[in-house]
Amino acid sequence: MGLRIGVLATRYLWAGAVEATSLGDVRCCPEPGTPDLIDLQSLNTDEMISAVRGLIARVRQGAPVDSVGAGIAGVVRNGIIEESPNLGQLKGLAIAARLGEALKADGIDVPVIALNSADALAAGIAATHGAMEKLVRVWYLGDGIGFGRYPRGEGAWEAGHSVVSLDPKERYCGCGGVGHLESIMGNRAIRLRFLDMEPEEVFLAARHGDARAVAFVRLWHRALAAGTATSVHLDGPGRFYLAGPNTGYIDAGQLGMHLQEMVKMSSLQGSLFEVVPNSHDLALIGAAVCGATG
Ligand SMILES: [Zn+2]
Repeated sequence: MGLRIGVLATRYLWAGAVEATSLGDVRCCPEPGTPDLIDLQSLNTDEMISAVRGLIARVRQGAPVDSVGAGIAGVVRNGIIEESPNLGQLKGLAIAARLGEALKADGIDVPVIALNSADALAAGIAATHGAMEKLVRVWYLGDGIGFGRYPRGEGAWEAGHSVVSLDPKERYCGCGGVGHLESIMGNRAIRLRFLDMEPEEVFLAARHGDARAVAFVRLWHRALAAGTATSVHLDGPGRFYLAGPNTGYIDAGQLGMHLQEMVKMSSLQGSLFEVVPNSHDLALIGAAVCGATG
C-alpha cells in the first residue's frame, strides 16, 4: 500500500505522509529558520503549485502515493478555492484539478481532493479519536475563526462568520461583515478594537483586573458560546473541539456557563468542550484521510 499525502495551506504550506492514521515525515514551506524566507503571498498560482509539488516529493521520497488530500484555509467547494483569506491569489483556483495535473509529471496519477482546512482538522480528530462515525465539530481560534465539521456537509459552513451581535459597531471581521464571531474573537479584530494592544496583552490585562479588558474577555467567551449555541440549535448537542493558538485564553468554566445560559431546551443540553493540541498534525492527517476516502 502506498502513502496517503496530506497537504495544508494556511499561512504556510505543509505536506505530510500518512500511513493508516499516523503521521510520518512532515515538511513546511517556507521552512522555519531558513535565512531567506519567501513570502507565500508573493507567489503566483504556478509557483504555489510547484511549491506543493516540491513538498510532496520530499515527504514521499520516491515511495508510491495512493491519494492526496489538500486542506485550504477558506471556502473550498468542488475542488475550487472560492475564498482564501490568507492567500488571496488562490481565489478561484481549481486546486484539485491543477495539483492533480501537476503531480502526474512526478508519476503520481491519483485524484486530488480539496477541502477546507478546518474540515480537514475535524476529519483528523475523528480519525485519531475513534470518532469516525460520530459528528465532530471544531473551532479553530487564531487570526481568523475557523469551523470544521466531520462528516463534511454540502454547503459553505462558514460558522466563524456566524452573526453573534446585532451591534453595528461590531465590524472588525476580516470578511467585512458586521456582527460576526470573528469580528470579536479573531486576532486581527482584537488588534483593531484595542489599537495599541496585542491579543495576549488584552488577556493579561484582564487577569490583572483592567475593567475594559475584563469586559472584553467576557464578550470573547460569550461570542464563542453564541456560535456554539447556534450550532447546537441547528445540528444538535455534542462535543465541540477547540484548536489553534488562542485556545490558551479559554476559561472552560466561563465558556460552559455562557453556553448553558444560551441553550435551555432540555433535549439540546449536554454539549462539552475539549481542547486539542497539535492542530497542524491533525489537519494533515485529516486531509490525507479525506483524500483516501473521497
Ligand atoms: Zn466575517
